[in-house]
This record gives sequence, structure tokens and C-alpha cells, in this order.
Amino acid sequence: MSFETLGLSAELCRAVTEQGYTEPTPIQEKAIPLILEGADLMARAQTGTGKTAGFTLPLLQKLNAARQKAGQRRVVRALILTPTRELAAQVQESVVAYGKHLPLKSAVIFGGVKINPQIMKLRIGVDILVATPGRLLDHVGQKTLNLSKVEFLILDEADRMLDMGFINDIKKIMVLLPKSRQNLLFSATFSNEIKQLAAGFLKAPKLIEIASHNAPSELVAQIVHPVDRERKRELLSWMIGSKNWKQVLVFTRTKHAANRLSQQLAKDGITASAIHGNKSQGARTRALADFKRGFVRVLVATDIAARGLDIDQLPHVVNFELPNVPEDYVHRIGRTGRAGNEGEAVSLVCVDELQHLKNIERLMKRDLPKIVISGYEVDPSIRAEIIPNGRNNVKKGSGPKRSNYSWGNDRSQARPGGSSARPSSRRQQYR
Ligand code: AMP
Repeated sequence: MSFETLGLSAELCRAVTEQGYTEPTPIQEKAIPLILEGADLMARAQTGTGKTAGFTLPLLQKLNAARQKAGQRRVVRALILTPTRELAAQVQESVVAYGKHLPLKSAVIFGGVKINPQIMKLRIGVDILVATPGRLLDHVGQKTLNLSKVEFLILDEADRMLDMGFINDIKKIMVLLPKSRQNLLFSATFSNEIKQLAAGFLKAPKLIEIASHNAPSELVAQIVHPVDRERKRELLSWMIGSKNWKQVLVFTRTKHAANRLSQQLAKDGITASAIHGNKSQGARTRALADFKRGFVRVLVATDIAARGLDIDQLPHVVNFELPNVPEDYVHRIGRTGRAGNEGEAVSLVCVDELQHLKNIERLMKRDLPKIVISGYEVDPSIRAEIIPNGRNNVKKGSGPKRSNYSWGNDRSQARPGGSSARPSSRRQQYR
């Protein structure tokens, strides 16, 4: 299958060839013809599947086909909403790259940066606007943005937008759009909330599902290394050094942990920077650029900051801490093994996280291989401590400070829980 056979114009095919793409990905094969036909779409696809080109290419084609006459003022005809600034910036980069041979204009607007340059761009006029919901509404409030001519609405990573509490903003934005328009919704999961949202604005949508989100790429090797809580950083430094890893994305649960870990790694002589929501937009963009260019060996990120990061051919993802929400594990490891490249996802798991691991394995419908690294065997006398403030309903300061989890007795084949871990009433609190 080629891009030409999907019905894309010569200008767009040229642009994708220049990107080095030789053939469409499965989501592109399915989505492009449907979008060109004018259908509303509900697509389940994660980052890494090529979904951005899947909606951007046909969008550009349709906008170009019905181009405004020369001399006419440009108005926003396509609105792409994304949950994070990074994703917004990356989507717009794709719009620019794929549309480089077309006379269409685009802009990206998100919070955390000055609003005036954005106002200037909007004043000059754009065809395609990529935006995060909050800043978009700021512009609407300041009357610097007119959405009354929008023909295409795309919600990218809709599940994450709901997770981040954008539902009301999305509803407010929809009211501002013309009723007659084409709508595309992309989401890694089809939860009830997503279905409800979709039912509210999609018209007879065509459904596309690409690789169940419970089944990440087979190219990603997933390994668990059991290790004690206080020895994780030492183990990570050792792995990076001894295996000579050059580009590693490391996940922590919290901003604080991301900062602390990047500082500790720096002390170990490993260049690292942290990327999370408390960092200014400039600092986040710089950290990502330094990482992509190879100036920084390790990027430590929280789930929200990392969402949608487009880093090609990332060979190593490390879960320094398992996420509270098992779906986030799948998103995390989706950063590696992309577009045909092999990748490795390593999880450093301490006794506190055994229930998290179990939840992940349940979601993945398989056990993950556990490999104890010599010299880092777990100390069975260390008792599990609860992980505060997670979305697992354990409130900080409430309940017991310890749980009854253990790695079981056979340390060389450490398994979470194991038959020796008796169910207890405390355990119920983690469900
Ligand atoms: P996305 O899922 O949109 O975040 O895209 C994931 C990565 O795949 C990006 O780095 C794209 O540049 C790349 N990509 C998109 N389409 C193709 C294709 N047809 N062939 C090879 N790589 C692609």
C-alpha cells in the first residue's frame, strides 16, 4: 500500500517521502480514506502508531481543496485540541512538515508562554490551529480568536484530556463552533467517559481500532528488576554506565522524584534533566531538545509531561517507579519500539509496588519476566510501605504505613505476591 493509493495529492506524498516514510502505517491506511470521504471518526490508537499523520494528511488535503480565494482573509477552519503543550507543539510541527508544499498556514497556542505573539499570529490569519483547551479559551475571552468558521474539529488524546479535567473546557469550546463540521476523536482507550463524550458530538462515526492498548508493540522487550527502594538509583546508574546506554527516558511518579533523580544522576556523572509540569515551557522545550540532540543522556519525566513526546527510535525506557494507573505503563513503554525499531522497557520494582505490578500484569494479560541483578538482590526483611497520594484511593496519612506484600521466598525467581503472600484485610485497601 502506498500513500498515493490512499488518495493523497502529489504535494502531500512528496512531503511524506521527504519525511522518510515509505508506506502508511495501519492507522493511516484506515483513517485517511475515511477522513477524505468526510466521515466523523472515533479512533483508538496510541502515540507511536502514526496517528498524527493519519489525521493531518487528509485534513491538509481537504483544506487545500477548498482553499480560500487569494486576498481573502484566512480564518481558522481546522481546530486540533491536545491535552499538553508538548503534544500541541509536536502536532503543529507535523502540520508544518506534511503541509510544506501547500499554501496553508498554521499556528499553535498553549499556556505557560506569552500570549501576545500568539495574538499576532492569529491576527495575521491561520487555516489550522493547534491548541490546548485552557489557552484557547483565554484567547476566546480576549476576543482574539474567531472559531465561527471551523469545519474540522480534532480531539487528540481525548482520554488524557478527560484525565486532566478538560471536559468542561471542551464543552465550552464546542458551543463556539459551527454545528456543521467534521469531527475526529483519537484516544488510547475507549472508556465509558470517552464513549459518552463521543456520543455528544460525533455524527455516525466510523470506528477504527488499532492494536488494543493492552497489547503494546511486540518489539518492546519488557523486563522487571526487583530491587530495594533505596537502591534503585544506584542500580539505574550502574545499568546506564555498564550497558553504555546513550538515550534513556526514565519515569517517576512525581515531579519531586523526577527532580531529585535527575540531580542524583548528575552527581553520578550521568547527564540528566527533568521534565514535568512545574518547569517553565522554555525549560521543558530545552530539556527535550538537549535530549533529542544527545547532549543529555537521561530525561526524567512524569507521566503527564511525557505524554505525546515524540522522540524517534528511543531504545530504552525505564520505569524508576511504576505508575499508579496501569494504563500509564502502556503509554510509557509506547515511547520505545516505535515504527519498527526494537526497544527495551525496564521496570525497577521495589516491594512497595507489588500491587501496582500486579495491576499492570492483569491489564497486559501476562506476567512480566523478573530478573534479579546480581548484587542487587532484594532484602526480604524490608517491609512494603504504602505509596501516598496515588489514584489508588490511598490517602496520604491515612491507613497503615506498611502493607503485607513481599517478593516471596525464592529470591532468584522473585515473583510478586507469590503463593506465600497471604491475602489480608490490609491488602483489600489497595484494590
Ligand atoms: P504518532 O503516533 O503520530 O506520534 O507518530 C509516531 C512516529 O511515527 C512519529 O515519529 C512519526 O514521524 C512516525 N511516522 C508516522 N507515520 C509514519 C510512516 N508512515 N512511516 C514511518 N514512520 C512514521
